[in-house]
Amino acid sequence: MTPAMLTAVDSANHVHLIIGANPLAGARCTRSLEVRAQPKLIAPADSSLHYGITKRIEEGKVEWLQREFQESDLTTLGREEVDHVVDAVFVTTGGNSSLSTRISSLCRRLRIPVNVADAPNLCTFTLLSTHTSGPLQIGVTTSGKGCKMASRIRREIASALPSDLGPAVERLGTIRRRIWEEDHAAEMSMDLEVDDDEAGQSATFNKLITPTDLEAARNRRMRWLSQICEYWPLRRLASITDADVDAVLQSYTTDSATSTSEARPLLNPTSLDARRNRGRIILAGSGPGHPDLLTQLTLRAIRSADLILADKLVPAPVLDLIPRRTPVHIARKFPGNAEAAQQELLSLGLDAAKRGMTVLRLKQGDPYLYGRGAEEFEFFRREGFAVQVLPGITSALSAPLFAKIPVTHRAVSDQVLVCTGTGRKGAAPDPPVYLPNQTVVFLMSLHRLGDLVESLVDERKAWPKETPCAVVERASCTDQRVVRTTLEYVCVAIEEEGSRPPGLLVVGRACEVLMKCEQRWVVEDGFEGFEGLGEGTLEELGQEIRAEAEEKMAVVA
Ligand code: SAH
Repeated sequence: MTPAMLTAVDSANHVHLIIGANPLAGARCTRSLEVRAQPKLIAPADSSLHYGITKRIEEGKVEWLQREFQESDLTTLGREEVDHVVDAVFVTTGGNSSLSTRISSLCRRLRIPVNVADAPNLCTFTLLSTHTSGPLQIGVTTSGKGCKMASRIRREIASALPSDLGPAVERLGTIRRRIWEEDHAAEMSMDLEVDDDEAGQSATFNKLITPTDLEAARNRRMRWLSQICEYWPLRRLASITDADVDAVLQSYTTDSATSTSEARPLLNPTSLDARRNRGRIILAGSGPGHPDLLTQLTLRAIRSADLILADKLVPAPVLDLIPRRTPVHIARKFPGNAEAAQQELLSLGLDAAKRGMTVLRLKQGDPYLYGRGAEEFEFFRREGFAVQVLPGITSALSAPLFAKIPVTHRAVSDQVLVCTGTGRKGAAPDPPVYLPNQTVVFLMSLHRLGDLVESLVDERKAWPKETPCAVVERASCTDQRVVRTTLEYVCVAIEEEGSRPPGLLVVGRACEVLMKCEQRWVVEDGFEGFEGLGEGTLEELGQEIRAEAEEKMAVVA
């Protein structure tokens, strides 16, 4: 297999002849327009056009020649400046027809690049599967071995890149050009100055710049540019801003002999944090309680936030991870004050974001599961702030797990339902009807357990009294407690054992898959923990890796 030469063709104003009327022809028109070429579509008048093409024809972006292809099209429909020869031909009607073969050989003879769909042997060029972000384009080819694979590989590559890399490439291009232009201007002014001298005029302050200074400054700036391109983490490069660029260019003024030392700190990627001045909100879930159940993302957010607004339920071991310098406000939610506390939190967040701070709204479990997360998202979005939402492990699914209850299990339960025992304004929502193959998890329900159980076993909902259930409290915390019982005894059990909020109720046959309860109820106290899973937290590991990388960076800086 001979590898093809990959090129990027400047196709502005080129005439692309597209033959066919199917969706592929539509896609070719789209691509053509993206590269600012002029697509001309050849398809008989009675063709049923893909709606995407019809729209573009109506808008006047695609020209439709309503007839069959003619040999003369190749040499008459093109741009005047190239004697009307078209710039490229795309045949979308399949490789098996004699028409495709004929067009292919005509094009080859006229040196017109031709592409025939699904017929690599009739093509003189193939299209790459491309990822585009501003001036940055990444193309993948499998040399005709499979376009599905090419697109999969392209997606994989693209997803590994920071999302704003395209704009960063644009900015870095600007720096390169500015360095070049400023150097060029400086050189010109030196030439002028020499002329002045020859004319016998007095020296200007420009005299302070000697050719050696200029040369040194230019070298330094170009070296800086190539160093950051080479050594900065891509994520950091992607977040480079215009302000960063200005700061760096100013510190490399051509007439400052001391600029090297002044500019040095700027080589450090962390010293220019692009987003520092833009307020933003992070809405993150902190998991059910144990700090090891935080996601790495949420932990990163905890470490980097300027202000943390936490829910009352966020457990102490998680709050302990907050750096001492970071201010924390914990919602003052108590019965009757929930709404006021929520408002207070929102306005604190808003004030801080307006002052350019990164505000972390830390919620228990997952932010979108009974966490009013979307309301807060809306609130901050309406105020014009970017809101990033980070998921958390929900208690609804992890509390049963830590209580050895598999929420689904073959031949026992094939569905899980998560409900709340507390509706709007404290009213009780209508509970679900009994389904033997369902596990139901009730959150926020233990304070009115009696009413809930009563309505479940009521004939309208028809839950058998013998249905196994478990109350799981403070799941994943050191004082976790599980009470295993049945709907018949759950209320007495909790009355006798007392409650230890937060807790939830799991009901269904899944409760007895791994743990049988032979008595009216059993109580299990304590959490087993995560021993034996290796030393050190992921975060510590991460720190080691980062330290190593920074050492390497320091060597090159
Ligand atoms: N967003 C949270 C739920 C908020 S509603 C999440 O995804 O987990 C609050 C309810 O969650 C509590 O009333 C309780 O029913 C449940 N809950 C939260 N943490 C819990 C825990 N560690 N153990 C058991 N139930 C818990």
